Amino acid sequence: MKVLKFGGTSVGSPSSIKEVANIVRNVEGQKTVVLSAMSGTTNSLHEISDHIINYREEEANDLIDQMIGKYVDVVDELLTEKTNQNEAIALISDRFEFIREHVGIEIPSTQIEKNIVAQGEILSTNLFHFHLKEIGASATLVSAFDFMAIDDANEPVISKITEAYGKIVAANEGIEIFVTQGYICLSHTGKIDNLKRGGSDYSASLIGAAILAEEIQIWTDIDGMHNNDPRFVENTFSLKELSFDEAAELAYFGAKILHPQSVIPARKANVPVLLKNTFEPKAPGTIIKNCEVPNGVRAIAAKDGITAIKIKSFRMLMAYGFLKGIFEVFEKYKTSIDMVTTSEVAVSVTIDDTTYLNEIIEELQEIGSVDVDTDLSIVCLAGDFSEQKTGLSTPIFNSLSNIPIRMISYGGSNYNVSLVISTVNKKEALVALNNGVF
Ligand code: ADP
Ligand code: ASP
Ligand code: MG
Repeated sequence: MKVLKFGGTSVGSPSSIKEVANIVRNVEGQKTVVLSAMSGTTNSLHEISDHIINYREEEANDLIDQMIGKYVDVVDELLTEKTNQNEAIALISDRFEFIREHVGIEIPSTQIEKNIVAQGEILSTNLFHFHLKEIGASATLVSAFDFMAIDDANEPVISKITEAYGKIVAANEGIEIFVTQGYICLSHTGKIDNLKRGGSDYSASLIGAAILAEEIQIWTDIDGMHNNDPRFVENTFSLKELSFDEAAELAYFGAKILHPQSVIPARKANVPVLLKNTFEPKAPGTIIKNCEVPNGVRAIAAKDGITAIKIKSFRMLMAYGFLKGIFEVFEKYKTSIDMVTTSEVAVSVTIDDTTYLNEIIEELQEIGSVDVDTDLSIVCLAGDFSEQKTGLSTPIFNSLSNIPIRMISYGGSNYNVSLVISTVNKKEALVALNNGVF
């Protein structure tokens, strides 16, 4: 079994959906197709839920009507048989009625949002499945709610995914294509939940690892992982091969082509991940696997929304137990730390989830004096630096001679050098590093 995931742009129009069906049918053997919502849908659904949560009923209803119109047009163009068209229109009405029912109901706003944004993937997978039926493909639609689950710490429950999805596959032996939703899942209390923005990549990796797939393919709108962020830097190029470690660092530190956690299940199960371009299927793309990689910097990524917290010890020299005390505060508030740097008297850490920032600061102030900087980015240079003992830092720091650096991290692993800078300087830093490092 191969797992093929198609992102929002790949299923963004009736013609793209048809192209996806072609690609899928050209891949031999059994496959699981994981789909995102059509591009723009998740954003619009967030907007609707925002209107509903803030009691803007009219705006919510207008946007719902607009989306229904858009989806009816998709059905007109995608499907040809009247019975399929009617069933698809009935499904669209049903899903948007479900969304409308949230107006004025008494449940937490976070749950309203989760219920509403989940509908995008339900719509795209149903439409794709109708199309497969029309072209005579051997396919079945599987609800992600039947196997994709997260626990009370929002971590995927691998055992449940393995067992439940394995049973589904076993029960459909002769079927060639299993279509399911990316992104959505059930929470530990059985409520509708999701794997965070861009989470369909993570769904594909979790499924691929659970069933020990032959390969996980991530089909998107670019020909694989580039050496730098193409949204900010010109003349970037696609990398043919990446190790799991390099890809994991790049995804975690902002390479948007992959959800931050999405490499981890595949790496653990040693299932290769192939990144491919739906709009240029012949381009080789990038293969992520266990492999030897050339030494030196291979790619650069940047992650925004970073907050740095500096804790200065009340005592002059760092006493033992100082770091433990700091980390315990973050553990208590389930806030993960991305980067750590230390000096004799102070420690700086970065976080990206500021939900409990105030509580964290209050408790840290019992340990030392606390400074907080916001609107920062982590720039990550990924590669294998194990052999490169000298000369590594010169091109990096020369490139950044005009950019103030807040933190530097190297040596945690052999696979990255990370720097924290102000987000306003990010583009300049990425371009300068591109010119200086490659
Ligand atoms: P999808 O909807 O298919 O999941 P995304 O928009 O999430 O697609 O991811 C693909 C986009 O990631 C590309 O269009 C590109 O702009 C962006 N991107 C950022 N960094 C990189 C990188 N290093 N390599 C390739 N694409 C990148
Ligand atoms: N549709 C979701 C999003 O836009 C998940 C995904 O595309 O991977 O974030
Ligand atoms: Mg994505």
